[in-house]
Amino acid sequence: MSSDLPSGIHVGGEWRRGTSQEPDINPSDTRDVVGEFALGSAQDVRDAIAAARAAFAQWSVTPPQQRADLLDRIGTEILARSAELGRLLSREEGKTLPEGVGEVVRAGQIFKFFAQQAVRLSGETGASTRPGITVEVTREPVGVFGLITPWNFPIAIPAWKLAPAIAFGNCVVLKPSEFTPASATALVDIIARAGVPAGVVNLVNGSGAAVGAALVESPGLDGISFTGSVATGRRIAQVAAARMLRVQLEMGGKNPLVVLDDADLELAVNCAVNGAYFSTGQRCTASSRLIVDDRIHDRFVARMVERLQALRIDSALKDGTDIGPAIHQAQLRKNLAAVEQARADGATIATGGERLTRETPGWFMAPALVTGTRNDARLNSEEVFGPVAGVIRVRGYDEALATANDTEFGLCAGICTASLKHASHFKRASQSGLVMVNLPTAGLDYHLPFGGRKASSHGPREQGEAAREFYTQGKTTYLLPG
Ligand code: NAD
Repeated sequence: MSSDLPSGIHVGGEWRRGTSQEPDINPSDTRDVVGEFALGSAQDVRDAIAAARAAFAQWSVTPPQQRADLLDRIGTEILARSAELGRLLSREEGKTLPEGVGEVVRAGQIFKFFAQQAVRLSGETGASTRPGITVEVTREPVGVFGLITPWNFPIAIPAWKLAPAIAFGNCVVLKPSEFTPASATALVDIIARAGVPAGVVNLVNGSGAAVGAALVESPGLDGISFTGSVATGRRIAQVAAARMLRVQLEMGGKNPLVVLDDADLELAVNCAVNGAYFSTGQRCTASSRLIVDDRIHDRFVARMVERLQALRIDSALKDGTDIGPAIHQAQLRKNLAAVEQARADGATIATGGERLTRETPGWFMAPALVTGTRNDARLNSEEVFGPVAGVIRVRGYDEALATANDTEFGLCAGICTASLKHASHFKRASQSGLVMVNLPTAGLDYHLPFGGRKASSHGPREQGEAAREFYTQGKTTYLLPG
């Protein structure tokens, strides 16, 4: 059954048919077409930017309460429809139904949070060094933002960029991943019907090479918020720098989970199974490097193998599925190739790594645990973005910490230990933006600043109070009463 969503291109308050359509395929059952979505053109992008610019004059001065009420209504509808939208998300992206519904709920909560933030936009007053003068520091909307998002959180990431952008009086052009247009279209449909004025939120679905590049290169933008791979982020950063755009990039990871010898074994295994493999390992925060102390290594690996072999890998929409498929065939091939490369490099495949067939034709594989790996091996250096994790054997905390930090990435790092001393030191010494102690590596609650270090992130943090920094600009005013 195909969805009855609008087209995938929304410009100036109108849905457009586009010049061509692309089927959105369910990765758990490739016979199932989720919908046909229009592919936009460079002209659609230019029109969307023009519509956003035209809308900005009015939208930027709407009373904050009006913006707050609109965002609140959007959040209410998303939450009320979380079961249906979660199913749509799982059907097009392949994360399990509970994960899909959870992501939709998160998107609803994000709109509710930023509804409140719209009315909390306060500034500062300061003292002047000269007598009789007052100084005010205020924040104002910036203008038009291009939002470019990946497929792995197809509603939450658009929500955490879009909600603060419009809450603070900006207008946007959203370019979602061409692999998950349904979730983004459903979101923009809700936004449009909630009464957001025409042109404030525009959507142009299409490929990165055509629509994404056109968005980055077209005049009329004031800033770009991007989430995706490092390669694309680098390209966007170059264009943005040349055009002096405000830019925020959230990119990949090769996140470590350190397991010390004093860790609770069951807790460590739970953290590793959840952090490395849930959502099919398709998370920027996935713990793909398991750095394990020699004295617990063999027990940890044996228990991991038991746990991974007991997981149910199947259609994302089936009750009881633990891990769904890869997003598409190219991603599955990349996952399988990474396992083969690790084998060729001398590592051992402790379990998994093979393609699986199920009742429905989909992109399934057995979660792979690769042991005997070196930190500088390709498996541990390049992001795979699938259910594949390498185990690196170390001796003691100091080597574990050095190994965890020895990477070009710095998004999320975890440690499992009963030692307060090591946990406290790791919190300070980890070269990553997010640290988890005795918890799986993961994203954050919506009210906290999200972002990494090194090649994982560039620019101001996202979400929570931090979003204000990116989506508003400061003004310092001196006033001498006349
Ligand atoms: P991707 O870089 O291929 O695509 C991301 C978006 O950029 C898509 O909308 C794509 O169409 C667009 N794009 C591609 N080429 C472009 C170009 N030349 N100009 C403009 N836009 C272009 O990434 P993906 O495969 O969709 O997502 C997976 C990646 O996202 C992984 O590396 C993952 O770690 C990362 N990610 C990071 C975070 C984070 O917050 N750090 C969160 C989720 C995903």
